[in-house]
Amino acid sequence: MRVLLIGSGGREHALALALVADPAVTAVIAAPGNPGIGTVAELRDVDALDPTAVAALAVECRVDLVVVGPEAPLVAGVADAVRAKGIACFGPSGEAARLEGSKAFAKDVMAAAGVPTARSYAGDDPALIRNALDEFGPPYVVKNDGLAAGKGVVVTEDRAAAETHAAACGRVVVEEYLDGPEVSLLVVTDGQTALPLLPAQDFKRVGDGDTGPNTGGMGAYAPLPWAPPDLTETVMSTVVGPTLSEMRRRGTPFAGCLYVGLALTRRGPRVVEFNARFGDPETQVVLPLLETPLATLLYAAATGDLGAHDPLRWRDGSAVVVVVAADGYPGTVRSGDPIEGAFASGVIHSGTSTVDGVPVSAGGRVVGCTGTGHDLASARSAAYELVDQVSLEGSHHRRDIALAAVESRITLG
Ligand code: AMP
Repeated sequence: MRVLLIGSGGREHALALALVADPAVTAVIAAPGNPGIGTVAELRDVDALDPTAVAALAVECRVDLVVVGPEAPLVAGVADAVRAKGIACFGPSGEAARLEGSKAFAKDVMAAAGVPTARSYAGDDPALIRNALDEFGPPYVVKNDGLAAGKGVVVTEDRAAAETHAAACGRVVVEEYLDGPEVSLLVVTDGQTALPLLPAQDFKRVGDGDTGPNTGGMGAYAPLPWAPPDLTETVMSTVVGPTLSEMRRRGTPFAGCLYVGLALTRRGPRVVEFNARFGDPETQVVLPLLETPLATLLYAAATGDLGAHDPLRWRDGSAVVVVVAADGYPGTVRSGDPIEGAFASGVIHSGTSTVDGVPVSAGGRVVGCTGTGHDLASARSAAYELVDQVSLEGSHHRRDIALAAVESRITLG
């Protein structure tokens, strides 16, 4: 099988490693890719947001499967354009990707499907926004309605900051605050059948102890030793099944990776967000544990054949990823600095490029250091040992990724 992978971040690097490990795969071509992906795949240039260009590249490369990594190409309709050429594509249609592309749309689907989530107000009327803030009370949760790379959300006790963010966004979703640990459940689906991956936890805030502003994600681990044993089953029956069924009912079935972000509250799991693609950095910890060949799985999902697929097989043990971020992230970042240790095994490239063959920083989240081990503590040690081998001037990383779980300090909301 020849596979074209679209994207250039850490998620795509993790996908590339898993795709090349599938014995059915003869070639992986990544566009535009990054220097880390370039060590295992052929790189081609493409404007990932141009559906016609991506479809033409898929034809030119004679691939059997296109895997679209990031959300923006999906929302732009890349999967539709590839499928129109008769090529299998893993990733939802532009219509179905609105589950991520518009928070208000996702809320509407959840309401129609009876999916447990936070109460909310969606709109741009300042008086109604103030009413919603009054009604839900602090901490205030204000979300930009459109795509914002995980950074359009403000969660704050400060009423003025909540109103300022709302005014800056225009159209927003104001939500009731959900209290409890967060879980990401990634589900591979052909629109009908859905196979859950291992639950993971990511770390959105920039600072240790969940302090500072939200980021795209500073680290992750899987599986979750503290999660209720029936968590996946509950989420599949109360969230995933009803959502997929509502999407089919609307004539826009969702096929691809449905990322369910949840808060485990005292009243049970509640959806915080949907994404229409693999999570970043959750993918960096979930895929190293997946024994089932990935390309074959994604091809089955892309061709509506998941019902005939074997149950997923998992390796024993745990995985942890710690993100090394550039100076200034999540604000204005410094880039172009050389990265030492960038090509060590387990280092996933998120925001890198090369200058004269030397890897340099080229984004906010620069690399992810992934460690695996027989348990969470040993996976965590392996990840931090790798962090110590990476050197990038001015970089920062969290020191407490997976720490509370290792120390059994996580309690349900
Ligand atoms: P989102 O882009 O919707 O996932 O939001 C980003 C992050 O903001 C989430 O991962 C949570 O940490 C936080 N967040 C979003 N919505 C809520 C909520 N209703 N209650 C508490 N935290 C939230």
